[in-house]
Amino acid sequence: MLTDYHTHTPLCRHAQGAPEQYARRARDLGLAEVGFADHNPMPSAFDDWRMDLSELPRYVDWVAEAREVVAPLPVRISLECDFLEGREGWLHETAELVEWDYLIGSVHYLTEDWALDDPRHLSRWTGQGTVEEIWARYWSLYEKCVRTGCFDFCAHPDLAKKFGFRPAGDLRPYYEPVISALAGTGTAVEINTAGLHKEVREMYPAPDFLRMAREAGVAVVINSDAHAPEEVGRDFAAALELARSVGYRETLRFCKRRREVVPLPETWPLPL
Ligand code: ZN
Ligand code: FE
Ligand code: FE
Ligand code: ZN
Repeated sequence: MLTDYHTHTPLCRHAQGAPEQYARRARDLGLAEVGFADHNPMPSAFDDWRMDLSELPRYVDWVAEAREVVAPLPVRISLECDFLEGREGWLHETAELVEWDYLIGSVHYLTEDWALDDPRHLSRWTGQGTVEEIWARYWSLYEKCVRTGCFDFCAHPDLAKKFGFRPAGDLRPYYEPVISALAGTGTAVEINTAGLHKEVREMYPAPDFLRMAREAGVAVVINSDAHAPEEVGRDFAAALELARSVGYRETLRFCKRRREVVPLPETWPLPL
């Protein structure tokens, strides 16, 4: 059975629906577990799309309430943590704030005033050579994110393609250092189906990335990145097909930062 370990809550100010609605949706779909991984709080005001540190207790309470509603379905607690160069110390502090089931590493910020997936900064993508420069910077940050060793898995590997901007030609040289870092640190990676609903109309990562990850022995999890209850488990049939097509037969479960290897189902949804 599958799990969905990347879902958000309204505390991030750009998601809708009560956590218990997400959890009910997971149960209705027959998922084995669901996990909340809202955007991580920062030690002081940072941007307008994450909870304040003072709201963290409410987050923990909301997840606990959702857990009661859908018991005995396991409901895990996590954060999607932004990697910001020079602020690695905060990640280590964050890991100690709550007994997390797992932690997700993400690269959204190219610089502290530019999240590359933010449509408010779309105009920065145009200009001679810019796409190559942005991609190079993005992937080098992603490698650093992985190499912190802070994360159980890393999110949406090729998020830089979100708006459809991609360098021409073979993209595998961008992927290689990140895949070595994932393999070397034992960090897993996600298939994130949300990309299907962005301008690029593709899951993250591209099949080439996932094939290389599989060959390097990197573990995989399948996630929706739901920002609304009805998005939980969205497009998991396509994600499972992608995972199996490059040779994956196993996925991971997480509890209190321990991983367990479990088989991937052959099909999704499971036959009744
Ligand atoms: Zn979000
Ligand atoms: Fe993200
Ligand atoms: Fe997310
Ligand atoms: Zn995400």
